[in-house]
Amino acid sequence: MTEKIKRFLSENRIATPTLVVDVDRVVENYRGFARLLPGAQIYYAVKANPAPQIIKALVREDSCFDAASIFEVRQVLACGAEARKVSFGNTIKKEDDIAAAHALGVGLYAFDSEGEVDKLARAAPGSKVYCRLLLTNESAGWPTSRKFGCEVEMARDLLIAARDKGLVPFGVSFHVGSQQTDLTQWDVAIARSKVLFTALEGAGIKLGMVNLGGGIPVPYRESAPQDEVPSLSTAGRAIADSLNRHFGNQMPRIFAEPGRAMVADAGIIEAEVVLVSRKVYDDSRRWVYLDIGKYGGLAETLDECIRYRIETARDGGTTGPVVVAGPTCDETDVLYDRAGYELPLDLAAGDRVRILATGAYTSSYCSVGFNGFPPLAEHYI
Ligand SMILES: *Cc1c(COP(=O)(O)O)cnc(C)c1O
Repeated sequence: MTEKIKRFLSENRIATPTLVVDVDRVVENYRGFARLLPGAQIYYAVKANPAPQIIKALVREDSCFDAASIFEVRQVLACGAEARKVSFGNTIKKEDDIAAAHALGVGLYAFDSEGEVDKLARAAPGSKVYCRLLLTNESAGWPTSRKFGCEVEMARDLLIAARDKGLVPFGVSFHVGSQQTDLTQWDVAIARSKVLFTALEGAGIKLGMVNLGGGIPVPYRESAPQDEVPSLSTAGRAIADSLNRHFGNQMPRIFAEPGRAMVADAGIIEAEVVLVSRKVYDDSRRWVYLDIGKYGGLAETLDECIRYRIETARDGGTTGPVVVAGPTCDETDVLYDRAGYELPLDLAAGDRVRILATGAYTSSYCSVGFNGFPPLAEHYI
């Protein structure tokens, strides 16, 4: 948690649950990321946290933006981004939305299928396009394995088709899977990108860009070995080394689309314990129900994928095993059952808890009113 957030929380007793984000930290993360991959153009993945305060701060840093929908395109433009700095990076888009983005001046689009090339050729003629490669991301903390991308051979054919249909075949993209802790996954993807570059040269197409996607992991819970993540600088070095190895002195332009790594550690959620209970008298595990759960913004606890660190005011004393659950009347609203969470034995209803590194994929994931609970309150400082 940043000093600024600590000070803010000690001076203000805010209602819970609330996400508090230190926008300065987002800017620091942006600059740190830019230093790590010098020359790379950063396209912030807006979906991680689309708050205008964050987008405006990144516009001031001269960032570019990866938008997943026409709504995100409009959002970043409304926050002052220039259209030429926006990439419409979802490979699945309605043709009307492509046309709308094209009319707004967006000139860079992703695809991974013939149907999408046809839509782009009709609705955004003359645009730069890049093809997303399929990767299987077994070691990612949050899965991204089947839904997006195509094989290299198909990518080659589609980029040729794109040229023949009046689009500009610009490059290749991939996503190694969000919260990816296995750095060799970037090397696999970069090697495959190089194969595609070479295959296209035979067809007279010289691609000019590799988009590294997102996936840089951030530290969450630090207690278990499976929760250890490589540092940002280690990851940056591994990626830069791989690019040098495969592309050498024929380096294309490099784009990166960090989402999580830009905003996760800039935010915390202040929440409250609603109830501590047991199901049977001699049960050693207590149930701790918080006033935030899967539907209130902690959707990434799905399958206990993302294991947040939880701090309480009673930390330091004896702890015992718990099941952590949300407040809604839904059986699936259980955050951690198998992940081995322990919380203080004297934790009680009404106690405040802080859920750390929750700046990414929380406010943008919460329901609009499941069980009547309002969307997660947000505070940007
Ligand atoms: C979600 C997403 C990102 C951001 O991924 P992180 O793991 O949060 O860095 C980047 N690019 C694309 C295409 C995405 O879908």
